[in-house]
Amino acid sequence: MHATDRDLRSRAIELIRDVRAYLRYLAELGATHVEEGSASRDLLPEWRERAHSSSMTVGDEENAWERSTSPREAPEATVEGETPKEEELMAGKRRSVHSVERQPERAAEQPALFGDLPLPSTAPPIADRTLDDIRADIGECTRCKLHRSRTTIVFGEGDPRARIMFVGEGPGAEEDAQGRPFVGRAGQLLNRMIEAMGFRREEVYITNVVMCRPPSNRTPEPDEIATCEPFLFRKIRVIKPDVVVALGAIAAQSLLGTKAPIGQIRGRFFDAHGTKVLPTFHPAFLLRAPERKREAWEDLKKVRDYVLSRSRSEDATR
Ligand code: SF4
Repeated sequence: MHATDRDLRSRAIELIRDVRAYLRYLAELGATHVEEGSASRDLLPEWRERAHSSSMTVGDEENAWERSTSPREAPEATVEGETPKEEELMAGKRRSVHSVERQPERAAEQPALFGDLPLPSTAPPIADRTLDDIRADIGECTRCKLHRSRTTIVFGEGDPRARIMFVGEGPGAEEDAQGRPFVGRAGQLLNRMIEAMGFRREEVYITNVVMCRPPSNRTPEPDEIATCEPFLFRKIRVIKPDVVVALGAIAAQSLLGTKAPIGQIRGRFFDAHGTKVLPTFHPAFLLRAPERKREAWEDLKKVRDYVLSRSRSEDATR
């Protein structure tokens, strides 16, 4: 195939994949329709067909395409040859999620994008082999004052070999009662975001910076964060995810050792804890400010593309 034809085909496939993912995201968020006029300009026939066969349309899908193909947002790792179809990518990803023998340490593919950030302290020199080792070490923890008001320690849950970790701030009332992270309204939104990325909740790992619920859902205090975050860093070292998604300012600031506001650092990959960290908005914030969901979706697409690229690269070298 001529190089130009191949480029066009790849762009078309990327466009279709992007639009389908965004439609799925909108559907997951409860969208039931879009305005017809916004989908009318120079769309590929296949996409037009898909959009019209769907019960909804998209607000500005062309902008989404432009963003998705701009150099700034191109996946960091690419593979030679033709771009596989979305179904193939997803199938390959799923296979890889369950079958790839993970490397003990990964070299960073990209220099830190926020080099002026002081890197957080490294995890303590504790040789955890499994998450159970960490849980056993935590015990019935009373290391910080949050233990006084908690019902349950919310350790975290998901695939211990997940490619993506989501880290929030701390448990809320529902989480404290059930002993599971992100099971309230924000958790339901997080589930929909994960599914829109093409993953299932069981395929990722979800946890928080502090594992005990702060009274009245207040923000964890610095001493509480400092006491509990080493356990988070140890979990990351055991799981070795491709990407840690920091949900909200507290998670981002803990993971990156910065005081930078989330609005300044969201949507960018940073090197920390032996992996990539990408901050984005917390689902609880998105429930209060739904107009920011679009930005969060752009962030999550970067994570999805990065993980798929890594999966493809690993498949190619096996
Ligand atoms: S928040 Fe963390 S450090 Fe504090 S009591 Fe709970 S488990 Fe222990």
